[in-house]
Amino acid sequence: MKIGIFGGTFDPIHSGHLAIAEEVLKTIGLDRVLLIPAGRPPHKKGRKVLPAQHRIEMVRLAVEGHPGLEVSDLEITRRGKSYTIETVKALERNYPKETEFYLILGLDAFLEFSSWRASDELMARCHIVVVSRPGYRFSDLSRLDFLGRMDPEWLDELDAGRRFRRDLPLSAGTRLILIRVPAHDVSATQIRDHLSGGKRLKNLLPPLVESYIIKHKIYSRATSSS
Ligand code: ATP
Repeated sequence: MKIGIFGGTFDPIHSGHLAIAEEVLKTIGLDRVLLIPAGRPPHKKGRKVLPAQHRIEMVRLAVEGHPGLEVSDLEITRRGKSYTIETVKALERNYPKETEFYLILGLDAFLEFSSWRASDELMARCHIVVVSRPGYRFSDLSRLDFLGRMDPEWLDELDAGRRFRRDLPLSAGTRLILIRVPAHDVSATQIRDHLSGGKRLKNLLPPLVESYIIKHKIYSRATSSS
């Protein structure tokens, strides 16, 4: 069985997140992708994050009608900061031994990966899937020492859209899979800013998530969490 692990703050989940999960599910032929909202995200310092119950409810609504995408409450029910290594170990206990895990990250997040807790161990336990994100270049991966030397031409080809996927073996026996996905120029920050400024959003959110936000007056100026 092949399981995708897609963690995030999801404050809120947006159409870029959904499109990435769908694209990776299909491109790699995964059995399912687990969307795992972080309880206490270690990387979002200095900003108050919306309570986890709202964030997971929005992820639940977002995956409705998307077979193959599932929500996991593993991180929000665990105490302390949400370190991915702990999540992977918990999943390994819950799935059969032969399960292959694929950790899915946007390129911006992967560029910071070496600062993650036990990043080496994560690379040994999971294949790493990195998807393109507007504003970031695969060619910047060549400055990550832990990846060893990467062919600059390969990376340029991905950035230029002449190639859509590259698989590279990692020293731990797993694979690094780089995927150029259709561009989704959206971030949760942009959505929060739009909503707190009273602006309307155009197709940046799954419709049920947008209705939930409006119903609960989340991110409006008076109740803004940021
Ligand atoms: P924020 O703006 O609050 O930092 P975000 O939009 O980056 O949030 P996260 O929940 O932090 O969303 O992201 C979870 C994962 O999804 C990360 O690996 C991130 O790189 C990836 N991701 C988010 N949005 C995109 C996007 N538009 N294209 C590609 N990857 C994305």
